[in-house]
Amino acid sequence: MVQLSAIQADITSLDVDAIVNAANNSLLGGGGVDGAIHRAAGPELLAECRTLGGCETGEAKLTEGYSLPAKYVIHTVGPVWHGGNHNEEALLASCYRQSLMLAKQAGVKTVAFPCISTGVYHFPKHLAAEIAVSTVKEVLSNDDQIEQITFVCFGSDDYQTYIRLLE
Ligand code: ADP
Repeated sequence: MVQLSAIQADITSLDVDAIVNAANNSLLGGGGVDGAIHRAAGPELLAECRTLGGCETGEAKLTEGYSLPAKYVIHTVGPVWHGGNHNEEALLASCYRQSLMLAKQAGVKTVAFPCISTGVYHFPKHLAAEIAVSTVKEVLSNDDQIEQITFVCFGSDDYQTYIRLLE
């Protein structure tokens, strides 16, 4: 049975099998959590990302973790929030679903997710957290490989939201 938990932390510090990156379509780095992951992983991560040909919104691609404690980085591209009538909720759920699919294919047991799309992409934070938790629960309801999912919150508001949703 998979264990779901929330912590307030810098995702780059976590010693898990895979961390998820809230990347952009280019996969060539950016600000926020993406920038932090590239800085911590080192230039080899960007070199591998250059070979991937970008990533569609709602999809995911896997790389090595290089200098990170995590063995893998799963890069997924969340939707930009345009008011809620542009398929944003389904695309965000797809990010979680596709990331977990890659994790399972790679034999990963522990995965840490950031709060995808809730930074410069402006997805409403509470709705994003609800989608994150419900999608992960749904995908892993019959899974006996993945043991631990950590929702990594940067701010204390997000952390409180996840704690309540996971109670
Ligand atoms: P997006 O473009 O998908 O909105 P951002 O990186 O702007 O991505 O923000 C996504 C979330 O990641 C935000 O909640 C932000 O506070 C958080 N974040 C930023 N840096 C880190 C980090 N080092 N570790 C964990 N979360 C982070």
